[in-house]
Amino acid sequence: MKRRTILSSVLAGTAAMAQTKNPKRFNQPTGYSDTPIIPFQRWKVHDIDRPKPAIVTPASAPGGAPSDAIVLLDGKDLSHWTFAGKRNKPQAPWKLENGYMEVTPGGGDAVTKESFGDMQLHLEWSASVEPSGDSQWRSNSGVLLMGRYEIQVLDSYENPTYADGQAGAVYGQYPPMVNPIRKPGEWNVYDLIFEAPRFNGSDLVKPGYVTLIFNGVLVQHRKEILGRMAHRVNGTYEAHAPEMPLALQDHDVPVRFRNIWARKLSF
Ligand code: MG
Repeated sequence: MKRRTILSSVLAGTAAMAQTKNPKRFNQPTGYSDTPIIPFQRWKVHDIDRPKPAIVTPASAPGGAPSDAIVLLDGKDLSHWTFAGKRNKPQAPWKLENGYMEVTPGGGDAVTKESFGDMQLHLEWSASVEPSGDSQWRSNSGVLLMGRYEIQVLDSYENPTYADGQAGAVYGQYPPMVNPIRKPGEWNVYDLIFEAPRFNGSDLVKPGYVTLIFNGVLVQHRKEILGRMAHRVNGTYEAHAPEMPLALQDHDVPVRFRNIWARKLSF
């Protein structure tokens, strides 16, 4: 008998023995209705009637899109994006090749056709191997949540610049807790949770919050967003729709993006 077959037989035998020896472990209740209410909830402890979480099929490999994600960039086309153009330049699609898209300087921000409020976002980005400048001119781009709240994308590898403008910063507000940047040309990964701000008419009733994991490292933990992205001044809030397109910033230098997906959430 082959070793694997012997092992399977032993495991099957063990499982059968466990079922025989421990009948109390099987045909167990799947919930209760005689338990106390959980504080501040409408459900009882282990409530049998509590709705079960929806089943989501995870990706086959880490970083891949789960089954309920909107895949915004799979490397095959730019069908989820529009390109705004800027400073009276004509709009120009970003370059798509080898599974990534790259900023076309002056082509304008890449803006999703889909709108988002609360969301989970995954994206990967890579700085130019050839430095495009110093400080804020070195592979600057950005994740513009709702088109206005910027999570900075920047080549922060041996590139001195102000702390609240480094990669992983909430631009102009919070530096990343640490700098886990990879070398230019290597792929960096952002996994982000965003709670959209809420407005009542023109009044802000709840600010936005953002959490960012950068190359597997927590760099922002539910930070309160203070207002829209601004340079050398404090950004403020202006009321807007509950869902807005996501944008990636054209800062006039080439930066690459790949594997972008989002999950719509409701906190
Ligand atoms: Mg930027």
